[in-house]
Amino acid sequence: MKALVAVKRVLDANVKAQVKADGTGMDIANVKMSMNPFDEIAVEEAVRLKEKGVVTEIIAVSCGEAKCQETLRTAMAIGADRGILVESAEELQPLAVAKLLKALVEKEQPQFVILGKQAIDGDNNQTGQMLAALADLPQATFASKVEISGTDGNERALVTREVDGGLETVSMALPAIITTDLRLNEPRYVTLPNIMKAKKKQLDTVTPADLGVDVAPRLKTLKVAEPPKRGAGIKVPDVAALVEKLKNEAKVI
Ligand code: AMP
Repeated sequence: MKALVAVKRVLDANVKAQVKADGTGMDIANVKMSMNPFDEIAVEEAVRLKEKGVVTEIIAVSCGEAKCQETLRTAMAIGADRGILVESAEELQPLAVAKLLKALVEKEQPQFVILGKQAIDGDNNQTGQMLAALADLPQATFASKVEISGTDGNERALVTREVDGGLETVSMALPAIITTDLRLNEPRYVTLPNIMKAKKKQLDTVTPADLGVDVAPRLKTLKVAEPPKRGAGIKVPDVAALVEKLKNEAKVI
């Protein structure tokens, strides 16, 4: 069974994000970029399913500039078998990525597609859901456990989802779309021998035009701004003064 994993190149989670001086977006020039953390979890899950003998081939896909090849090589070092870069210099919004992934789903016919629940740059949390709608496939978002059962051509996924107030378990026929939550697994460290092996794995490049997809942006970002700075705190001499301030100044009690 083939698995398709979507991996996005984003600002590294440990880098402090800076807004560009003109307020048009985040400043990503000369800063460390990495694979979106939820996508590392998605690759890890696909690799674990391959190690269990459920999955036979893992295809990693990244959409964006040529440097996304680095992200694909990381996915291959974790254990993906090959990579596809959908190269585009244009800004790709979730709808455009979902359309590109749909075109690849039609071409590659994977039994399941696994994505991160959200990319930590735009925090959109849209691509997996849009892909499920466009491809007309069942979806289970925010997965914290994935089990595949059934026989060839008749497989089902049992997915535990993290929802408000608890866990929900859904069963769906494959092919299906799954998005990962933080507790699904802990991705392995990438080892040097695996980084070397990944360099030799197949990496194909296609363009949105090759896939027949119009990626023109549909949304316009008006302004990006830093959150307001927190003012300095004050010290109160005793509990009575604290209660007085909460009551009469902050008016929260
Ligand atoms: P988002 O809807 O932007 O929060 O992204 C959700 C998930 O969609 C990410 O965790 C990735 O798995 C996938 N995704 C979004 N954008 C891209 C991209 N440019 N290339 C590959 N995968 C992407």
